[in-house]
Formats: sequence, structure tokens, C-alpha cells
Amino acid sequence: PLVLGIETSCDETGIGIVRGSTLLADAVASSMDAHAAFGGVVPEVASRAHLEAMVPTIEQACSDAGVRLADVDAISVTAGPGLAGALLVGAASAKALALGLGKPLYGVNHLAAHVAVDVVEHGPLPEPMMSLLVSGGHSSLLLVPDITHDVRPLGQTIDDAAGEAFDKVARVLGLPFPGGPHIDRAAREGDRVAIDFPRGLSSRRDLERHEFDFSFSGLKTAVARWVETRERDGQPVPVADVAASFQEAVVDVLTRKAVAACAKEGVEDLMLGGGVAANSRLRALAEERCEAAGIRLRVPRPGLCTDNGAMVAALGAQMVMRGREPSRLDLPSSSAQPVTEVQV
Ligand code: ATP
Ligand code: FE
Ligand code: MG
Repeated sequence: PLVLGIETSCDETGIGIVRGSTLLADAVASSMDAHAAFGGVVPEVASRAHLEAMVPTIEQACSDAGVRLADVDAISVTAGPGLAGALLVGAASAKALALGLGKPLYGVNHLAAHVAVDVVEHGPLPEPMMSLLVSGGHSSLLLVPDITHDVRPLGQTIDDAAGEAFDKVARVLGLPFPGGPHIDRAAREGDRVAIDFPRGLSSRRDLERHEFDFSFSGLKTAVARWVETRERDGQPVPVADVAASFQEAVVDVLTRKAVAACAKEGVEDLMLGGGVAANSRLRALAEERCEAAGIRLRVPRPGLCTDNGAMVAALGAQMVMRGREPSRLDLPSSSAQPVTEVQV
């Protein structure tokens, strides 16, 4: 089936088009430049930008894919979670298209879509599969028996998301927002064992209650304190070493818990997704540890890890191919939609 997917949960207006499991177009318009000055995404600014970008981005995607809207067999859209106003723009657009074209509509979960996108990159998902989703808003370890209707959270962050920690530490180091890519780059010149930053929820006692949960707020504070102390002593801050040591603390815990979850659940495939999965050290360490544990690793290219429309189209196409019922035309957008609710 030819499926057009619409993603507007945060600052990216993403329109993806897939045919079955083949990616035909992935057009993304980001309003990040408008938010950067505020050091974070401003919801009202994001909603307005989605409104302005929607029609041109749809046209771009159709032209990239070489298809006409009339050829589309189904529309899928991110129903949640995300920014309420931003989600509404996507849902209203999707409903209008579905109604106007007389085609079925699928309202899907944003996190499940981050997982499903790997279908267009590496083929059919092995199910059950483990997925580590790490982005600016989420850090979750998911067991995925069936991406169209059975996704089980094994753990998540109890405070900051991994991407949020990258962004906050970047600010401490005077790097631009969003900070993840800047830390990644700075860390390449640094020593990752220079500073021993804390690994959240990794003590034996914490593991009893939070085996597969994450915590990055203590780490962020530890980095800020370390930098403050250097500055107070009038010493230069070794940005590359701090970046590399901080990054190592994050990816060490992420990969250790992901591999442990695979072993515990008897799952042999691990998928990384979300914006932080673009991190070069996370990719390298995950590869190393998965190989040692006999786990196959799947990581989509960075452009498919950050928010995009292709992931929503990919999940929509899976829904169609596996015979799931379409959603209702009055489907709700829900800013706090749990990952267990794959479709609304
Ligand atoms: P959501 O959490 O709802 O999916 P989001 O917009 O925060 O929304 P993404 O677009 O998937 O999610 O990811 C953005 C996050 O990824 C930002 O926090 C950014 O700093 C981080 N990020 C992007 N590239 C890298 C990188 N190379 N290393 C580390 N973090 C990165
Ligand atoms: Fe996302
Ligand atoms: Mg984003």
C-alpha cells in the first residue's frame, strides 16, 4: 500500500511516503531555528510553524516520491504523545486528507513509529525485538512482540530524558541548542575516562527497584558542579574531556541496560531509535557490547532516528499490511499517550 504519514509532535513537520516497506519520500521542515534563541521548543511557535509548513511539505513529499495525492491508499498521523497544539495541526490535516481522498486514517503512537521506521531501513522487524528509544523527550526500553499492537515498556527515565541531559550539559559548556550533536563532535577530541561521572540507577540497590529504568538528572548536576568548581578556581574548562566523559556516562548505562534486558527476555535483536541514537559513541559502544553478547543490532540512519514523517508512514503501512482496522475520523490527539497505546 502507498501510505502518507504526518508527524507534528514537536518542532518537525514531517511528511513521509512509503510503499509497503519501501521509503519513497521523507520531507521534513523544522522550526528549530525559531526556537533556538529560547533554548527550547516554544509550543505556540511550533504549532504556527506546522500550519505554515504543512501544505508545502506535503507537496514536497509527493514530488520527491513521484506520486499524486490521489494515488495514496491510506493516511497515518502521530496521535501522541507530544505537544498538544502541534499534534492537533497534524491530526486536523490528516483527517482533512483522509476525508477528502476517501481513504482510511490511522492515528498512531509516536514512540512506536520511532521503532517501526527501521522496517524501511533494515527490512521486516524481528518480533519480539528490544528497542532502546532515546530522544529529547523520552528514554525507554521497550519489548516489542508486535509493533502494530503490542509494545511493552520495561523501563524509562525517572527524571530527564537522555537528549534533555545532552542539551542541558551543552548549555553548561556554552555549546548551542540542541546540544546533542555538538557534544558528540566535541567529545571526539576528548578523553572519555578523564572524569568519572556518576552512572544513574546502577548501584545494586537501585537495580533492585529500577532494573531497566534510567536517571540522568544527577549526572547533569554532577557535570554542572564539576564545571563550576573549575571556573571558581580560575582554571580553563576542558570542554572536550567533559563532553566525552559525560557522553560515556550516558551511553555506558544505556547500552548496559539494553543488553541486560535482551538477555533477561531472551531476545536476540536490539534496535536503537530516537534522536540520541544518532550519537556516534552510543552506536559504537552498542555495536561492541551487542557483538560480545551475541545480539544483532539495528540502528536506522541518523535522519530516520530524529523526528520525521517516514516513521509514521512506515507504521501506518504495517497497520494496513497486517489488516488492522483504521482509526475513526474523529480520533483524539493525546499529548500523554502511553506507548502501550500503539493506535488510537
Ligand atoms: P521526542 O522526544 O518527542 O521524540 P524530540 O524532538 O526531542 O522529541 P528527536 O528529534 O528524536 O526528539 O531528538 C532530539 C534530541 O536528540 C535532542 O535532545 C538532541 O540533542 C538529541 N541528539 C541529536 N543528535 C544527537 C547526537 N549526535 N548525540 C546526542 N544527542 C543527539
Ligand atoms: Fe521523537
Ligand atoms: Mg525534534
